[in-house]
Amino acid sequence: MKTETTIHGLAASLNPARHAKKLIGFVPTMGNLHEGHLNLVREAKKICDLVVVSIFVNPTQFGPNEDFDNYPRTLDQDSHLLADVGCDIVFAPAVEQMFAKEPRKTNIQVTEITQGLCGHARPGHFDGVALIVTKLFNIVQPNYAFFGQKDFQQLVIVQQLVRDLNMPLEVIGVPTTRAEDGLALSSRNGYLTVEERALAPQIYASLNHAKVFLEQGEALKDILEKMKNDLTTSGFEIDYVEARTPELETVLHFDQDIVLFVAARLGKTRLIDNLRVNVPT
Ligand code: AMP
Repeated sequence: MKTETTIHGLAASLNPARHAKKLIGFVPTMGNLHEGHLNLVREAKKICDLVVVSIFVNPTQFGPNEDFDNYPRTLDQDSHLLADVGCDIVFAPAVEQMFAKEPRKTNIQVTEITQGLCGHARPGHFDGVALIVTKLFNIVQPNYAFFGQKDFQQLVIVQQLVRDLNMPLEVIGVPTTRAEDGLALSSRNGYLTVEERALAPQIYASLNHAKVFLEQGEALKDILEKMKNDLTTSGFEIDYVEARTPELETVLHFDQDIVLFVAARLGKTRLIDNLRVNVPT
């Protein structure tokens, strides 16, 4: 496995594979890798000849009061994990490599689907995501890019971006990897205290209860209210509990597939999760 820290170095490493028309897979991450990230790499290995994983904590997707400075940076440990799952190239650029000194004059903005859910609590976050993803896609030029369904809104936004700008690649969504107790794996889980970690699986449990109630025909509005109340009573500070269509449109009636979304804080840690509900016909 090679590690490249510059755009030129990466291009030189990728050129032989590109000329040989090998299929290049790409997994963008912010590092501090866990099984969720590694499963994206495993999926990529199944259909690609060569897999590039980027590790870059992108400053433009963090708000002024968010955890950019404290975000865990564990490159050595990440590199060992990636070598074990057969990653071919790690791209780990410094901020200066990705954002040259001159002021940038281009923004990338996906509209509408970036506004609600996490876009509401984290203004500008998805502009930062769209920008870094566009830059990384241009640098790596992959055939396939792999994103986790855990960040469902991000996945749909990136798919929209790729479609709207005719980017020559396919975006593949990979199911969420969970701990045994159901908690979606996340680099931010490391911020939880022992007590908070014990409470955290309630998010997924509440999504699953909601799914059962929906399938039994209970009203969506009542179910969302109950989820909010139950999670608040357990000690969560709710950011949002919402239902959307898989395209992130408003749910108008419940004879369509929907995705239930939760974002909630335990102490200083913000957790997100979602669950798709396929309505039986
Ligand atoms: P991050 O490093 O948090 O920016 O995540 C990098 C990629 O890994 C994104 O596509 C995430 O959606 C994905 N990811 C993070 N956690 C999980 C998980 N538990 N299961 C599946 N994918 C995940």
